[in-house]
Amino acid sequence: MENMPEFTLHRPDTAEEAAKLKASDDSSRYLAGGTDMIVNVRRGIEAPETMIDLTAIGEITQIAVDGDGLRIGAGVKLADLCVHADIVAKYPAIAQAAASVAGPTHRSYGTIGGNLCLDTRCLFYNQSQWWRESNNFCLKHKGEVCHVAPGGKRCFAAFSGDVAPALMVYGAEVDLVGPGGERTIPLPDLYRNDGMDHLTLEKDELLVSIRLPAPPAGSLSAYEKSRIRGSIDFPLAGCAVLLTSDGGQLSELQIALTAVNPFPQMVKGTDDFVGKPLDDEALDAIRDIVRTQAKPMRTTTVRPWYRRRVVGALARKLVMRLASV
Ligand SMILES: Cc1cc2nc3c(=O)[nH]c(=O)nc-3n(C[C@H](O)[C@H](O)[C@H](O)COP(=O)(O)OP(=O)(O)OC[C@H]3O[C@@H](n4cnc5c(N)ncnc54)[C@H](O)[C@@H]3O)c2cc1C
Ligand code: SF4
Repeated sequence: MENMPEFTLHRPDTAEEAAKLKASDDSSRYLAGGTDMIVNVRRGIEAPETMIDLTAIGEITQIAVDGDGLRIGAGVKLADLCVHADIVAKYPAIAQAAASVAGPTHRSYGTIGGNLCLDTRCLFYNQSQWWRESNNFCLKHKGEVCHVAPGGKRCFAAFSGDVAPALMVYGAEVDLVGPGGERTIPLPDLYRNDGMDHLTLEKDELLVSIRLPAPPAGSLSAYEKSRIRGSIDFPLAGCAVLLTSDGGQLSELQIALTAVNPFPQMVKGTDDFVGKPLDDEALDAIRDIVRTQAKPMRTTTVRPWYRRRVVGALARKLVMRLASV
């Protein structure tokens, strides 16, 4: 780890002021809980001359009722999110995903905004300066070759935030504020399939809140991940499932994945299982469509084929468990 470099810290108290400050300095970065950003600074991956601390913006630290649903401020800490009564009761997958992030100290600083805007991760990137330098760096940062797919010009670093898929199965949207004003987009549209530039945020835009519609009547949900150390680790593969079922048949099925692509993703084709019996054949088919859409690469110490198998198994297990409650 490198020493902390010198930098200027701003602490604005509105989102608009934060966006203005960001626009006034091209090297600046937003800082929320800092549990990922500071690690990247100490590894020499990020070298901002200015950081814009978002923790004094009171308006983004609340969870509020919003029509039939909820609005979660980007500054809400994961430790608060995972015990919030409405989240636990109505959106259990979100509470479970937030509770599975890192360890307790990270969750007491780490925010939901930082979790959704997390940089992508790779074995060849999340390393110290001297380690990366001794490998001639890589395409994502300072280098010319991707060590995962050396022939190509793409980066396959995986988005590895836990909470995005759990929000996606509920149809979450995100509110963004930038120098050009405000906009709201579906959460999946915040991401693109590019490990080098995976967020669709406009220049200097920040995420201010997440809008959750009311959960579908009678729905059940859950999130599970596979990781190396059970007490503290990024997902090797993560899966959120939301379903409603009636008399052994599904009436709704939503599945979302993380850590198996450069972006968190809704699984396509789940509607095909609605209105049909949920027997072993259907469960195997659900597992298989998940495996087909997960495209992990050699970005972790664990082999891609294992992560693909695991994510399918997680989906199958969660659907079977929720449907038989
Ligand atoms: C040992 C360790 C284990 C970890 N394990 C996990 C894990 O299991 N699962 C997991 O999901 N994460 C994990 N993390 C990563 C991190 O702790 C969490 O993702 C956390 O939620 C990040 O939030 P933060 O507020 O600390 O973000 P920060 O570190 O402050 O910021 C992260 C990124 O988001 C940007 N950002 C922050 N807020 C906003 C905003 N409102 N608008 C726009 N951009 C913003 C920052 O500029 C930065 O690029 C781990 C980290 C460590 C060090
Ligand atoms: S996938 Fe390739 S370019 Fe991307 S971080 Fe890993 S080694 Fe670098």
